[in-house]
Amino acid sequence: MNDGDNPMSKAHAAPRCTATSKRTGERCKGPAVRGWRVCRFHGAGGGHSPGTDHPSWRHGMRSREWIEARAEITELVREARTHALGDSARHGQ
Ligand SMILES: [Zn+2]
Repeated sequence: MNDGDNPMSKAHAAPRCTATSKRTGERCKGPAVRGWRVCRFHGAGGGHSPGTDHPSWRHGMRSREWIEARAEITELVREARTHALGDSARHGQ
């Protein structure tokens, strides 16, 4: 097998998230967002800014990855709300 064609080998080559999980006390190991040392779940795009040493870095809130992440979160919240409302509606009847 040619590992170069495996998309996962590319993901493993990406910089790792340097955040430490509060639950397990171990490294996150998630793929870091480009320009950040942490993954999108560990503060990439907000709070402290490890990307400020980048010459063209502004604030990260407009980075494409962050916008996509927020869209995903919004979608998840919308789904969760829909399910919650559906459950309460059923209980109400
Ligand atoms: Zn992480």
